[in-house]
Amino acid sequence: MDYAPGLTAVRFSDAPHLEAQTDPATGVCTVGMALWLATSDKERYFMLLHEAAHLELKTRDELICDSHALSVYRRRFPRDLMPTYTLLLKVLDPADPVHAARLQRFRNQF
Ligand SMILES: [Zn+2]
Repeated sequence: MDYAPGLTAVRFSDAPHLEAQTDPATGVCTVGMALWLATSDKERYFMLLHEAAHLELKTRDELICDSHALSVYRRRFPRDLMPTYTLLLKVLDPADPVHAARLQRFRNQF
C-alpha cells in the first residue's frame, strides 16, 4: 500500500459514529463533527498526531500510533499529558476488552 507522507487535509463529517479516520493513500483525515466539537485544542492536537502517525509509520496499528503520538505530544506539552488520555476516553469503550487493553497500555506510558 502507498502512504501519503503526512496529513494533507482535515475534513469534517456528520456521518454517525465517525470519530477520525485517515485515507492512507491521500492523507486526508476525516473527523466526526460531533467529536471535534466535544474536544479541546490539545485533545484535537493529539488526535491529529495519532492520525499522522498512521501515515508516517505506515501502519494501521493503533497502539503503535498512540505511543508515537504521545511521544510527539509530550515534547510540546510535557506537563499536560491528560488531554491525550481524555481524548482516548472519548473515542474508546472501556467495556470493550480490546479498547480496555489499549487504554491500560496507554496509561502505562505516563
Ligand atoms: Zn488510529
